[in-house]
Amino acid sequence: MGDQKAIIAMSDQYIMRTYGRLPIALVRGQGLYVWDADGKRYLDFVSGLAVDSLGHCHPRVVAAIQNQAAQFMHCSNLYHIEPQARLAKLLVENSVLDRVFFCNSGAEAIEAAIKLARKYAKKKHGPERYEIISAYNSFHGRTLAAITATGQAKFQQGLEPLPDGFKYAIFNDLESLKSVIGPHTAAVLLEPIQGEGGVNVADGKYLEGVRRLCDEHGLLLILDEVQCGLGRTGRLFAYEHYGITPDIMALAKALGGGFPIGAMLATEEAASGFAPGDHASTFGGNPLACAAGLAAVQTIIETKLVEHSAKVGDYFLGRLRGLQDRYPFVKEVRGKGLLLGMELSIKAGGVVTRCREQGLLINCIGDHTLRFIPPLIVTGADVDAALKIVRAALDQEGEG
Ligand SMILES: *Cc1c(COP(=O)(O)O)cnc(C)c1O
Repeated sequence: MGDQKAIIAMSDQYIMRTYGRLPIALVRGQGLYVWDADGKRYLDFVSGLAVDSLGHCHPRVVAAIQNQAAQFMHCSNLYHIEPQARLAKLLVENSVLDRVFFCNSGAEAIEAAIKLARKYAKKKHGPERYEIISAYNSFHGRTLAAITATGQAKFQQGLEPLPDGFKYAIFNDLESLKSVIGPHTAAVLLEPIQGEGGVNVADGKYLEGVRRLCDEHGLLLILDEVQCGLGRTGRLFAYEHYGITPDIMALAKALGGGFPIGAMLATEEAASGFAPGDHASTFGGNPLACAAGLAAVQTIIETKLVEHSAKVGDYFLGRLRGLQDRYPFVKEVRGKGLLLGMELSIKAGGVVTRCREQGLLINCIGDHTLRFIPPLIVTGADVDAALKIVRAALDQEGEG
């Protein structure tokens, strides 16, 4: 057992100050639980930010990584890589997309999507077509292009000049999107459910309308499923809720079962925008990451975690909505599957702290919205256990 205070002191001294960290150091995880360096156990409803969908240290992912690590960790994309080809085949066979580019994170998947969209639009329609329209309140990652696509000024401040060629429209407002489409537009980039922006769910009519507008204007539709993809919302991909299909899709977070990997998928048509030499990544799709990804995605599909996530998510949503009668400061509960948010009219930080003290990890997006993103293996009984702690925290909030 480590000394938690010592770990925190060392971290504070040597790590760059980019994160506002909570005062615990986690050292171990198993299934739905994590332990801090003092040995305290927590029920984990954060899942490493929607990464640990199979729970922590899933035996199939651990075995795949151990085996692959002993056989071949890295070789370069100068050569064909079997686990990479197999993971691409699995993703293609289970989606509407035809080809995959592998990278190491969500931001890189978005970066690749932006580059492909520009290359495709210029080849197909001419050099004046390069603009990407994204939504206000979106989140697409932290590289300069991805943060520019992110429609939240607070993340962009001080980074100017930002890359050119990005415009924004109001989420769930088709007229707003229409008014921004112009002669330079190449693609529309959206999260079907905005995760970091507050768990905002796209309306069915809106996404249908977006797809129609893209078709009318010859624009590519890029869906960012980095957070909402791979079973999180009760469908393997969130677009399946809407009866529409993307031209390009970004994945990451849950893709590696805890191991870092990202992917950008595209239809054959959109993928024709790239030729050899147009994009690359040294580590992207390396044997170790892809072996982890293959084990993770196979497990999600074969153990029917997608259906499970839909069922437990419905139960969880219903129980959270039930809290609205009891606590007048609960403004709205929203989400799909196991990507759920509860917006409060009061600040939510105190609830997060009290839950942590009682052994439950949840997180807060913005100042007012509690987010619940447990591993997809969570059961109704686990949800009940978490809600007991949440209710106690909300009771104190009511008294305070
Ligand atoms: C987390 C996230 C990203 C960025 O992923 P990183 O791996 O942190 O670069 C992009 N888009 C969405 C929707 C996300 O939730």
